This record gives sequence, structure tokens and C-alpha cells, in this order.
Amino acid sequence: MKMENFDEQEKKVNVSNIKEDESLSYTDIEDLPSRYKLYSKGVMIKGRPLKLFELKKLSTMTELNSDTVINDVLKSSLKGINIDDVIVADKLYLIFWLRANTYREPGYSVNFHCSNCKQDSSYDFNLNNLKVKYVDESFTLEKLTFSLTNGDTISFHIPKVSDEKRTIKFKNTYASIIKDISNDIFDMSIVIDQINGENLELMDKYDYISNLTPQLFSQLKSKIKKWDFGIMTDLEVICNKCGGKIPVGITFREEFFIPEYNDEWIADNEF
Ligand SMILES: [Zn+2]
Repeated sequence: MKMENFDEQEKKVNVSNIKEDESLSYTDIEDLPSRYKLYSKGVMIKGRPLKLFELKKLSTMTELNSDTVINDVLKSSLKGINIDDVIVADKLYLIFWLRANTYREPGYSVNFHCSNCKQDSSYDFNLNNLKVKYVDESFTLEKLTFSLTNGDTISFHIPKVSDEKRTIKFKNTYASIIKDISNDIFDMSIVIDQINGENLELMDKYDYISNLTPQLFSQLKSKIKKWDFGIMTDLEVICNKCGGKIPVGITFREEFFIPEYNDEWIADNEF
């Protein structure tokens, strides 16, 4: 056995890897549910096609690990932003953008059962399949301060990835101490910055909210939710068999990230 040859081969493999990396060029992601209204001036997020290991990672997503998996993949495939600063409501859009820009040619199809033609069919995913709820045009940062009818003034921020990390860290640290923590009250405590101009500790904010009357709690929750935006839980896909526009629930299965390739279908339907 000649070790020289082995070395040569390894060199070749490395060279081809480098070439492939260079071909993964970054593109501006111009459209976001937040319309870039919540990022510093001049921020433009750029993305590149996903690599196989990133798609593999995404297909291992479960309810428990989804935050970590998505954050890891965004961190390695995006440029122009610190992942901690990404608005949570933009996160899933970014994952879909990356998926759409990885398979740009037709023929990479996801199987589904079409509710229109009742056949086992497939669709080619693209960004038009997303139903995006954009942040309201009238949104400005000043809208994040409001008063309740008891005169209390609240200011809050739209959640970022860093808030998700804080939440996970906090819950892990205090899991054994804090039982029966209410998730929606906790999430509201995380995004509230000031109450009557005062910066309070997280648990003080939690206590403040917990002790509100039902009426004031309802006001607070509605005011915070008012600017909700992001993507809807349904896709609207085009069935490759009947051409119908069909609603399909979003599921992150391996097949979505690594779809089947079917060039015969393209050849049959090209003209
Ligand atoms: Zn159909």
C-alpha cells in the first residue's frame, strides 16, 4: 500500500471542498416579516444555500431541541447579523428562506396527500408557499410603550433570540425551585423592559403581572400581542398532479429538508 497515493487523494478531496464553499455565495434577504423595522439601521441579513450537514441537523428537529437546532443552523448560514439579535418572529421565515434557496431548480419535491385531487402527490417548495403576516406598516418603536387603565405605564420589546436563550437558562436554573410557572406570564415578563419607568428584576415583573386584576391582565396581554407578526402555520402549495392551491400544515420532516428528486416529472411537464 502506498501512503503517497492516499495523501494525494486526501489533498484532492480538500481542494474540492474549498471550491464548493466558494460557490456557496451569499444573497441579501430583502424580505422579512419584521420588514427590518426592528434592527439597527443598515442591517441586511445575507444567507447562502444550506449544506448537507445543516439540512441533516434540521431534520432531527423535535419540539424539545428546535430552538437550539434552528439557532445553530442560522448561525452557520447567515451573515450580517448576530443571531442573538434576530427577532424570534423572523426566525422561521429565515429557515424557510434558506430551504427555498438551497433547492432552486424544480424537481426537488415533497410528497403529500392532495386534499383536492385525492391523490398521493408532491409539491416543490418555494417562498410563495408561505403565508407571511408582516409587522403593521404603522409600527414604530414608540408604540411599545403604553398605559393600562389603572395609570401604570409599561414599555416592552419584541422578543429576540437572546430572550429565548435567557428563558431557557432561567428555567433550567430554577426548574426545581419554581413549580407551576405560567409560561405566558413568564414570556411577558421577559419582554417587559420597564414598569412606570423602573427596571425591575425578572421575578418582580412576574409578580407584578401575576397580581394584576383579570381586566388589567387582559389589557396587558392584548397590548403586547397587538404587533404580533411572523409566518402562518399553514403553507399554500401547488399540487404537482392537479395544479390546485392546497393548504398544508408546516411539518419539519427530513423529507422537507432533503426532498426527493424527480427529473422525469419535469421532462413530462416541460412543454
Ligand atoms: Zn392535487
